Amino acid sequence: MRRRLMAVLALAMATPTLAETVAIRTTRLLADPRAGQPVPATLIVEGQRITAILAVDAALPAGARLVDLGSATVVPGLIDSHVHITSDPGRGPIYAVTVPPERHVAIGAKNALLTVRAGFTTVRDLGSAPLTAMALRDSIREGELPGPRILASGPAISIIGGHGDVSGFRPEVVEALSGGNTCTGPEQCMARVREAARRGVDTIKITATGGVLSQQARGLEKHFTDAEMRAIVETAISLGLKVAAHAHGDSGIAGAAAAGAVSIEHGTFMRAETMKLMRARGTWFVPTLMATQGLVDRVGKSIYTPVVEVKARQAIDAWGKALAEAVRAGVPIAFGTDAGVFEHGRNGEEFALMVEKGGMTPRAALVSATVGAATMLGLDAEIGTLAPGKIADIAAFAGDPLADPRALTKPVFVMAAGRIIPMN
Ligand SMILES: [Zn+2]
Repeated sequence: MRRRLMAVLALAMATPTLAETVAIRTTRLLADPRAGQPVPATLIVEGQRITAILAVDAALPAGARLVDLGSATVVPGLIDSHVHITSDPGRGPIYAVTVPPERHVAIGAKNALLTVRAGFTTVRDLGSAPLTAMALRDSIREGELPGPRILASGPAISIIGGHGDVSGFRPEVVEALSGGNTCTGPEQCMARVREAARRGVDTIKITATGGVLSQQARGLEKHFTDAEMRAIVETAISLGLKVAAHAHGDSGIAGAAAAGAVSIEHGTFMRAETMKLMRARGTWFVPTLMATQGLVDRVGKSIYTPVVEVKARQAIDAWGKALAEAVRAGVPIAFGTDAGVFEHGRNGEEFALMVEKGGMTPRAALVSATVGAATMLGLDAEIGTLAPGKIADIAAFAGDPLADPRALTKPVFVMAAGRIIPMN
């Protein structure tokens, strides 16, 4: 296995042009994680797409370059529905006033490579300075940088003084840093959605409740009115956009789900009644258990301000409880981590937390990061499973992810939209 791995890595050093035909051979292909066991097969990739799945011993197309992955388990490229690709963890409030958005793009390029090397070939970025994640998105799409496909929201739409607003500084500093992303009343909130659409976002993010890491001490319950959230969702849908709602407190979760948000992010204090509503409406739950791991790693170490410490301890107390109950209640689950609150590249550690804290099977956790997330994003015709005609987003792992969720933390091979990713 080791020698074979080295050969694979050597091959990967020379990134192919997209015109090349690549044959990916394995004794363990799990093309659709929803059912069945891995089988021997050879995937044929031409350009960005899978063109055929052949028997493992079939003759290869003329001129095809063979990548033999031995007994590594080959799965669809993983999807993280909640990242902050331009952010790194543990930056104090001073960071916001000292680091310009131009540098966020460079930090994001570093994080994009760490993310795709972890086997994640698609991410939804739910909160970055205007245009930064979109610049990365476009560069990766054009092949200028290695990284995952990015769907970006830009700054979250927030109430004045809410989780997505600037707070904790003197008023004139707040004024200078304000991103124009707050709104009051349905009309102003509709305008913010339209402005985001004009800038070219792929999705809308709102902060339906307070948040743990912002310097505001206004709790973790509902911030927007129901009328504001309805206006945001209705406007987004009219422009072909879905709304992801950051929400910790149950009042905000219920309000966002009732307004028609596609997903609830975090869902920390979700109650049974709200789970019933989400199941009935098909609202996705993105549990981000790794965000709480990030808090556990940093709380009590003088990294957070006192305002943040209080909220962090509340979130840690509730860690995983809502997911376990939501799984039993039949709420649809999409994989998301909040990478940026912890170190990018550790995204795959979420799988073991979903199994151990949330009571999911390893298979259900893998489905949430492939077919599940792809369906939530509206991309299931292109990604989420491996089949002829689909985009060649492919990850391979040593071991059996259906038995051990930790197998999904260290890929041995990644292909993103037909490009082999250099792994070191
Ligand atoms: Zn987040």
